[in-house]
This record gives sequence, C-alpha cells and structure tokens, in this order.
Amino acid sequence: MSNHDHTPHDHVPESALVLFSGGQDSTTCLAWALERYPYVETVGFAYGQRHAVELTCRPPLRQGIGELFPGRLGTDHVLDLGASLAAIGETALTSQAEIRMTAEGLPSTFVPGRNLVFLTYAAALAYRRGLRRIVTGVCETDYSGYPDCRDDTIKAMQLALNLGLDRRFVVETPLMWRDKAATWALAEKLGGNRLVELIVEGSHSCYLGDHTTHHDWGYGCGTCPACALRAAGWKKWKGLA
Ligand code: ZN
Repeated sequence: MSNHDHTPHDHVPESALVLFSGGQDSTTCLAWALERYPYVETVGFAYGQRHAVELTCRPPLRQGIGELFPGRLGTDHVLDLGASLAAIGETALTSQAEIRMTAEGLPSTFVPGRNLVFLTYAAALAYRRGLRRIVTGVCETDYSGYPDCRDDTIKAMQLALNLGLDRRFVVETPLMWRDKAATWALAEKLGGNRLVELIVEGSHSCYLGDHTTHHDWGYGCGTCPACALRAAGWKKWKGLA
C-alpha cells in the first residue's frame, strides 16, 4: 500500500529505503528514517524462514508506525529470495535444526552472508526506485557475532554497491553502536510511549516463532538468543537490571 504516488523515476533527494523485517531493530530504524526523511519505502525478504510470523507482523506494524509520521511512508516491497539462502545455509533459522552456538562461536541461526545478500537486493531496488539512502538495523554492539553486521563490513558494502551500481548510496546504520537498552530508549525518543507500545505489541524477534507468550517486552519464547537479548535490553532500559 502506498500513501504516495511517486514513480520510480521521481528523484526525491532525501528519500530512504528501510530494510524492514518486523523485528524490534528494523522497526526502530523505520521510525528513525520517517522522522528524518520526507519519503520512505520499506523492503522485506522472504527466504524460507522457519517462521512466517515475522512477515505477517510487518503490514500492521508498518501501518501503525506510518500513522505516527503522517504522509511520509511510501511503498512496501517484499522480495522473495526463494529457497536459495536456505539451501546454502542449512542453518537453524531456515531448517528444523536446534539453535545452539557453533564451534566458530556463532549462533547456529547464522546464515552465511545473509546481510550482504539483503543489502545487494536493497540497493538494486533503491536504484530502480530512485531512493538514495538505505537504512538497516545491523548492530555491532549487541551483535550475536554476525560478521556481516560489522561496521567495517557495511562500509565496504557501501563502497562496493556505489561502484557496482554507479550511484551515491548512503548505507545508514542508526543502531550500529547502540545496545538493546539504547534501542528501546531511541524508540521512546522518536515516538514516545506510543511507538514503544507498537514495538512491544507488534514486532517480532523470537527465533522460535513464538508469538503467543506475552512479556513486558513483547511476544516470544523468552529463552532463545533473540528473546534473551530483547528482554535483557528492556530490563536495562527500565532500570530493572
Ligand atoms: Zn524466543
């Protein structure tokens, strides 16, 4: 659904494409972009995730956030990457394997190079849509060891995309140096309690796809690595830890 009738060739200088998965981080990034830029589009990826709950969370959450920043939210795109990532990864996020830490010190949910793939697709889409800024919620501070979330990786990707596509994209990472507590604080700063509540009730982070068990910090199993991070960040932000 689009609130705007921009065509792909309407070059809006201050426009952004947000990688929006429906999780806490990307939802906060969407609010961050909407506060800054007059025109924002979103992109999500279907790649054989174990749980489609992430994708079903996106539309209502997106609509709620859009209403907090009226007139700025444009088209949503969902790109189906098919089974290729799942076939290559064969990891816990895309198969029924158990989530654990691997010998490399990475959670078994790691899909090698996933964010590189996402950024490449996002840049190709941004090119077509005439959008200059690409916003992603990757984070080096609280990160689970994903090397493709590192600041150096993102800077290198920006350079590669700009050379390869002959554009001047800016890849923005508002959460890069924020931990989960600071991410909750950022949401409050951007949209007050209304935004925090939207994220708590509407976003999804749980690796196990549990969207029925409710906690102060939102829905989730409460024990997987994603729930543990989200809960710990909430408690720290609330001064409970
Ligand atoms: Zn969980």
